[in-house]
Amino acid sequence: MGCDVSHAQQVTVLGATGSIGLSTLDVIARHPEQYQVFALSGFSRIDELLGLCVQHRPVCAVVPDEAAAARLRQGLATAQVGVEVLVGEAGLCQVASAPEVDTVMAAIVGAAGLRPTLAAVEAGKKVLLANKEALVMSGALFMQAVQRSGAVLLPIDSEHNAIFQCLPADYGRGLEAVGVRRILLTASGGPFRELSAEALHDVTPEQACAHPNWSMGRKISVDSASMMNKGLELIEACWLFDAPPSKVEVVVHPQSVIHSLVDYVDGSVLAQLGNPDMRTPIAHALAWPRRIASGVAPLDLFAIARLDFQTPDDQRFPCLRLAREAAQAGGSAPATLNAANEIAVEAFLQGRIRFPEIARIIAQVLEQQPVEPVASLEAVFEADRRARELSRHWLERQGR
Ligand code: NDP
Ligand code: MG
Repeated sequence: MGCDVSHAQQVTVLGATGSIGLSTLDVIARHPEQYQVFALSGFSRIDELLGLCVQHRPVCAVVPDEAAAARLRQGLATAQVGVEVLVGEAGLCQVASAPEVDTVMAAIVGAAGLRPTLAAVEAGKKVLLANKEALVMSGALFMQAVQRSGAVLLPIDSEHNAIFQCLPADYGRGLEAVGVRRILLTASGGPFRELSAEALHDVTPEQACAHPNWSMGRKISVDSASMMNKGLELIEACWLFDAPPSKVEVVVHPQSVIHSLVDYVDGSVLAQLGNPDMRTPIAHALAWPRRIASGVAPLDLFAIARLDFQTPDDQRFPCLRLAREAAQAGGSAPATLNAANEIAVEAFLQGRIRFPEIARIIAQVLEQQPVEPVASLEAVFEADRRARELSRHWLERQGR
């Protein structure tokens, strides 16, 4: 009687089998008294999802279809682990919005994460946003839903998490009101930072996926190599921090130690530093406004010794410019950009196109598809659908 029994946070991890999902589960497992896994989702890696269910004992698991569900149920029965298996987007939305759930890690890759992430937002959850494509596609609608529901939106993307940490608590009053001059978004420059335009023609998917500093899923690895990741992040920053694109400057910083900076009118520039390991922003967001151990090694500044900064090269990496233009155009342009990029990256990973063609497809689709206002989610998905169609036509015309 009278004692305060605080319960463990119930966490749904969407995209549990991916790079961010696994890092999230690693942090959660370090604090079993504070976090419990309510639900996990996987898509193609069903055996890995089974292993995670055995290890983390969620209440629910979500898979894409009945065949995957049958396989997972069989494995769970053999392992004698009781987990309810749900199917498809409806299942994802259900575990994202279930009343038992406090926190949702949105770590599905690409447009596939939009509806489940929005379901978590609309249910007023604490939403840990890794799935930047969802916000890029539906920016205004997404942020309106956050306002309406009272969801707590915390950025997982290391740069945005850094910016969040460098801003005052009341930044929602407006960047100008809190004295921010600009946001400096750092970029590693990716594995091809020093390659010539000619050499970029011959790079392989394996080289694109071998990032010098970060270990990530294949799609975001290619995005990092093309600098589209920074382009998506520019749009993400504009929505998260209510900043016009002109207030967000990209700085290439090859060591990936400074994760971004905020420049104030008095000349102060605040930065967040750390080893490049996603468990830091994940632990920050999970425990916010407190701090918990993440398993990340302390930063050794003497071993790092120097920090370099360069301006991005729009000539060799046109994706960043395309994204900035889409941010400025607004409306359906970011959804168009994102969809064309998803198709182009998939084609590159399948060996059907050359690396520089990624930017060419996106530029072409942005040129062909008129910018329209997006007043509803249907309009967002319509822009997404048409941009995918145009991208596939481009590939067909080139005989790919
Ligand atoms: P991964 O490819 O490693 O993981 C993606 C996850 O999404 C997997 O669990 C995958 O399932 C699942 N998935 C894939 N396609 C679908 C689909 N159509 N429907 C439902 N689930 C699906 O990616 P990352 O973990 O690297 O990235 C996840 C998100 O986080 C991306 O939006 C990325 O931009 C963002 N992010 C990632 C960072 C990183 O360091 N990795 C850093 C900052 C942001 P399965 O594996 O079973 O197929
Ligand atoms: Mg990032």
